[in-house]
Amino acid sequence: MDIIYRYDPFAPIEMPKIPDVASAMSRLVEGNDRFVEIVTQMQARTLGQHKGEPMVIPVNPVTLGLPLFEGVMPTQAPFAAIVGCADARVPTEAIFDESFNSLFVLRIAGNVLGTEGIGSLHYALANLGESLRTVMILGHAKCGAVTAAVDAYLSPEAYVDIASTHGLRTIVDGIQIAVRGAARALTIHGGSQIESSPDYRSLLVATSVYVNAAVSALELQREFNGFVEHAPAVNFSVYDFESLRIQCLPTDGESVNVSRYLPAPNSADDLFQYASDVAKAFLTLDEEALDRNCRLTVKL
Ligand SMILES: [Zn+2]
Repeated sequence: MDIIYRYDPFAPIEMPKIPDVASAMSRLVEGNDRFVEIVTQMQARTLGQHKGEPMVIPVNPVTLGLPLFEGVMPTQAPFAAIVGCADARVPTEAIFDESFNSLFVLRIAGNVLGTEGIGSLHYALANLGESLRTVMILGHAKCGAVTAAVDAYLSPEAYVDIASTHGLRTIVDGIQIAVRGAARALTIHGGSQIESSPDYRSLLVATSVYVNAAVSALELQREFNGFVEHAPAVNFSVYDFESLRIQCLPTDGESVNVSRYLPAPNSADDLFQYASDVAKAFLTLDEEALDRNCRLTVKL
């Protein structure tokens, strides 16, 4: 199988037009769809089912964010700021099929926003406003930081090691609001007996991942609203290792017709409504889909 990034020096260079938030979000979703297509074709090839057609992706210096001429430095012009996790399996540019100069990326374990992260985004808003159209929080399934936060919630004795390390504690504490919201939603919709289920830990991790992305989005939207008069809308989503897609609710792998991203919740009530939607979605999956969504070891 060939994936060809083709540079034609004689092809007219078209400047990407990203006029508004909707266009920026469409570009992110379309980029993620291309990534899914590339990986799907690669997997089909591995199974001997590939059609044999090369995949050709046209590129030019502008779309790559590279200087057109020697010694000319490109202007920094990202169309989106993404706050993702530091997890090495979720490289931001790769999963959106983007390259140089497209994304202003912050990666922090558990996509928890601390002072420096918020300051970096304030910088982006203040200095990159000509190109920047949207800000997105991106969580991901099977997140180690969220798993540590869930373990600290379920087994307080496990928290001792974390509590003695200021940096780690800051991350795990920052995720607790999501874990508590996810736990409450699961108990309300699954009954209190769910807490003694052998799958409860992994179910709580899986639910907390989605809620944690929403919590970070809510916090950031509030920060922005206090910082600028016409603050950009903050969206959030979750990268799923099985489907390779960004999505806002768990799926059974067949019906992928769920929102690819959502706006930040407006209030604590909105946030809990979302946590309830995620919990209900997990609790209505069949056993196989639930296992695929919740198992903590990723099959690679
Ligand atoms: Zn993570």
